Amino acid sequence: MWVTPLIERKREGGALTPQEWRELVAGYTAGQVPDYQMAALLMAVCLNGVEPKELAALTGAMLDSGERLRFDHLGFPCVDKHSTGGVGDKVSLVLAPLVASCGVGVPMIAGRGLGHTGGTVDKLEAIPGFRTDLSSAEVQRQMERLGCVMIAQTATIAPADRKLYALRDATGTVAKAPLIAASIMSKKLAEGISALVLDVKRGAGAFLPELHDGLELARSMIGIGAEYGCRTVALLTAMDRPLGRACGNALETEEAIATLRGEGPADLLEVTLALAVEMVLVAGVAQDAAGARRMVTEALSAGHAVERFRSIVATQGGNPAVVDDPAALPQAREVAVYSAPTGGYVAAVEPRTVGRAIVAMGGGRRTMDEPIDHSVGFVISAKPGDRVEQGEALASVYARDEAGLRVGVEALRKALRIVDEQPAPPLPLISHRVTAEKTEAIPSTAR
Ligand code: URA
Repeated sequence: MWVTPLIERKREGGALTPQEWRELVAGYTAGQVPDYQMAALLMAVCLNGVEPKELAALTGAMLDSGERLRFDHLGFPCVDKHSTGGVGDKVSLVLAPLVASCGVGVPMIAGRGLGHTGGTVDKLEAIPGFRTDLSSAEVQRQMERLGCVMIAQTATIAPADRKLYALRDATGTVAKAPLIAASIMSKKLAEGISALVLDVKRGAGAFLPELHDGLELARSMIGIGAEYGCRTVALLTAMDRPLGRACGNALETEEAIATLRGEGPADLLEVTLALAVEMVLVAGVAQDAAGARRMVTEALSAGHAVERFRSIVATQGGNPAVVDDPAALPQAREVAVYSAPTGGYVAAVEPRTVGRAIVAMGGGRRTMDEPIDHSVGFVISAKPGDRVEQGEALASVYARDEAGLRVGVEALRKALRIVDEQPAPPLPLISHRVTAEKTEAIPSTAR
């Protein structure tokens, strides 16, 4: 394939045909198109964008590079949720068993930590023995029995995305809405789902912090979903501070389990319930939003969601004792309390600083294959806007050694800004709902 004219056309703001996208992606996946040409083309896409038809063709080509799961025979609808990534975002661990316990299949292919953001797979793997590498037969059996799996992306699902993602990571071409949209949707469409709910993060800790970029990303993914018969709905949620209190894999798993037991933080619960409502609605098992809300809150309070989580953990090889005993999760060797150095108002809990510190403390990866320490991280009780006294405990640092503790304390000093005057309020927790038909601003109810 002669790629240079395609790069030149994109450089000048022109469009590639669907056939050209298909050949390009197939050629790149097969190793016939070199990295340097693909990198030049990706940069031209970053600078000049793509038309909706091109985006659909690019996504389709990435989807067709691998296999697709099929769950048509199960007799219940299958839907999934995807978050664009954040700090302290352990929603999936609560949401997937919750929605499955309402009679909706959730075949979740989740990701690992990316940059400063955490990943569901790493949080699940904090549970001793938990396997995220199930075979296709195991996935099918578990979906039949429990209506839910939570696994890592396999080598056979959208392999073009794996290769392209690594190239984007190395060439400064990750943070652009169309490329993120194609990457996410190629994997989600491979799950064999009929509908998808997106949690698009906005604020300082999001990949795309600005509201207009978040809305563009949401609309791009909704457009791709429509093209492939997968009804897609998005909520825009706040990532200008961590979600919940725990940040770091085992700590987040513990907080997710507490939430399943009805003892979690209000903001995590609110985002989880809002997404669960959307999932049961798009699945068609509830008539309206009020009925959907009743269904998911009852499943949580009756203990159905936590019992489904226990079954998933046991079936995927994990130690189900973690559900009753957080001490069964990996424990950090060193723990220190961080206290307010001065009195005043908490102006920010800066999520990128927190996320990067977790990586520096060994809880995330700098390279794809680096092993991680699941035990490290933070529990931050302070929230933006809180009035605090000098010496008041604001957070705890969990580290594997003294050096890690120092890194953690230093990060909290930077991340937790305290000011004299009451600061502007943080972003609303859930600010917009986007569907193929419209974008609605929604008032927030919890912090
Ligand atoms: N998550 C993905 O799967 N792909 C991206 O490009 C960004 C976030």
